[in-house]
Amino acid sequence: MTDTTTHSTRLAEERQTTVDRLEGLRREFGQVVEATVDANSDDEHDPEGATIAYERSQVAALIDHAEQHLAEIDAAQERLAQGIYGLCVVCGRRIPEERLEARPTARTCVEHAGRA
Ligand SMILES: [Zn+2]
Repeated sequence: MTDTTTHSTRLAEERQTTVDRLEGLRREFGQVVEATVDANSDDEHDPEGATIAYERSQVAALIDHAEQHLAEIDAAQERLAQGIYGLCVVCGRRIPEERLEARPTARTCVEHAGRA
């Protein structure tokens, strides 16, 4: 089945997965921040402090990425509501179902990927 319900369900599942991941990452980030407070605050001379700072930036990057993905899912759901989901934003052709399955937030056909 390649109808709207399938797309809607898939996006809802993708959204839930992303929201869960974000929650986990934010919890992890909170723990890293707590660890920073507990650790010797002399970051520059404390190898552990430097490691924590690195960890914190890694988790922050993952959070950014997940938030961006969530915004993409929201946009895809919006396109679905408008009846234009699954159409390439560059050429207007239908995006192959296999591509939508692998990447539910795809806005372009394979040919135009990276151009929109
Ligand atoms: Zn296209």
